[in-house]
Amino acid sequence: MSLFNNLTQEKCPVCKEKLTTYKSDILLSHVIKSCPQDHYEKEFIPSLEGYVEHYKVATK
Ligand SMILES: [Zn+2]
Repeated sequence: MSLFNNLTQEKCPVCKEKLTTYKSDILLSHVIKSCPQDHYEKEFIPSLEGYVEHYKVATK
């Protein structure tokens, strides 16, 4: 259970806000997590068995 909590308590690398989780298709385990302030988005791709990260702000 603690491992699951770690996976669901990820934070935005920009503002450290907790990411909001959207499950677009629970059968495919397709999960999108995004920053509430729209800095960052992380998408789980079941076919790749991994995450794709999207930064919505320029990193300086
Ligand atoms: Zn943020």
